[in-house]
Amino acid sequence: MVEINFLTYIYHIICFIGGKMYHTLVIGGGCLGAATAISLQRKLNKVGKNEKVCLVEKAVLCAAESSRHSGIVRSANADPDASVMASISTNMWRDLSGVWGLKMEIDEFGAIWIAKKNSDGENPAWHELSNRMKKIDLTFEEIDTRSAIDKCGKTLLTDEDESYFYEPGAFQLDPSILRSTLYDAIDSNGVELMEKTEVDTILTKGNQVIGITTNNGKLDAKNFVNATGAWSSQLFSKIGLKIPVTIEPVSVVNWMESPKQIRYEYPIIADYTNLCYFRSWRGNKMHAHQPRKRSVYEIAKNFLNDLTQVNGGEYLNEPMNQSLAYNQIKNYEDISKKRFSNIDKTVYASGYRSFFDITPDLRFILGGDSKFSNLFHNLGSGQAMKYCPVLGESIAEEIMNENNVISNFDYKKFSIKRFKDDYMKKFWNLVQGEENTLHRQGKNQL
Ligand SMILES: Cc1cc2nc3c(=O)[nH]c(=O)nc-3n(C[C@H](O)[C@H](O)[C@H](O)COP(=O)(O)OP(=O)(O)OC[C@H]3O[C@@H](n4cnc5c(N)ncnc54)[C@H](O)[C@@H]3O)c2cc1C
Repeated sequence: MVEINFLTYIYHIICFIGGKMYHTLVIGGGCLGAATAISLQRKLNKVGKNEKVCLVEKAVLCAAESSRHSGIVRSANADPDASVMASISTNMWRDLSGVWGLKMEIDEFGAIWIAKKNSDGENPAWHELSNRMKKIDLTFEEIDTRSAIDKCGKTLLTDEDESYFYEPGAFQLDPSILRSTLYDAIDSNGVELMEKTEVDTILTKGNQVIGITTNNGKLDAKNFVNATGAWSSQLFSKIGLKIPVTIEPVSVVNWMESPKQIRYEYPIIADYTNLCYFRSWRGNKMHAHQPRKRSVYEIAKNFLNDLTQVNGGEYLNEPMNQSLAYNQIKNYEDISKKRFSNIDKTVYASGYRSFFDITPDLRFILGGDSKFSNLFHNLGSGQAMKYCPVLGESIAEEIMNENNVISNFDYKKFSIKRFKDDYMKKFWNLVQGEENTLHRQGKNQL
């Protein structure tokens, strides 16, 4: 725990009287930090308070995961609350004026979901999901093989043992357009952006965070938001917080395609038979990456045996960790050949290795901290980009004591408070066998 000493305390009071005191300091300029800062600054502007939000980023805006995502926005989700959040988020993306004060181009091509049927030739889980989606006005419906081919073209390989579901409201966006939009919204709403400013120390007093030290000096604020994604664990362990976020490697490959065979207006393909997401990419490319691994056993392999001593952001941004090996590219070619008849006739254009930010239960960490009353967390869990407008708005609401967006779903279930010591113990008990190995697959999900 970093307790401030007497001199620092006096310095803090001097800053408060004579220096700049921000309303909120948001640490981490990925899409979640930027969205939070923009939403909050807009709210402050609206109530006419001449108070400032400062977004502190150690590199440049969206330097980490937020420029390496696939830009896929789908709402259907196994977690009902995440689906509601996604549907709110989808509406926000379609017109960002209300939350960011501007609009952004998106490509509305829908998504085809593909999975194997069960032994009775059914897909009950997705039918159940479809019924649930209807209740929140989202279309997620089964289509026949013919319609799937009509939507995608005859290079799509289909199988009678598979079922096909269509989500027309799904869309994709361009990560570089998102990045430029965030810069524009930061400027137009008056957020103060400090890039190349790394937070080194967090200063606390009692149950309050009172300031941060950076390579560009000390900064003070009334509230603090942690949006440092995969860096959270290391940074906040300095003040005694245990934030279980780590990274799971994922490879990405782009193939040069012919627009005559695969149009840019191609639906996203969420292929759960071959465990791969595909989308068309600008420049007539087909883009592919695998989803997060979902079993407790696989998730646990990414954490070390202390959930807070994890591989984090530094590992993510190390160039050596971003290149693909030949066999990884070939592996993707094999996967893709199972879905498209023509991938072997296209050219490998580019690829990279990146990392999903993951928590033990693959859920976000949102809202007020359990220990420090003016600290709030906004962390993703491997698919946060699509939620960033709604997550930013939610944290801004919590700080401003509003309750418009967050009253629509069980916001509290995403709180950091769920990761108590006994949760951690249970997590490890699920995967540690008699010989302390990871062989035993966790039967009971947390
Ligand atoms: C291959 C791939 C595909 C993906 N596809 C999708 C998709 O299709 N849809 C989707 O919704 N999501 C997708 N994601 C996930 C999505 O990219 C992430 O969940 C999201 O970008 C996380 O955003 P963030 O702001 O939390 O983290 P980050 O973007 O990692 O931002 C954290 C920031 O904090 C900064 N920081 C860290 N420490 C400090 C410090 N001490 N001081 C100051 N700044 C600091 C870092 O520099 C960094 O910029 C994908 C991810 C990958 C890897």
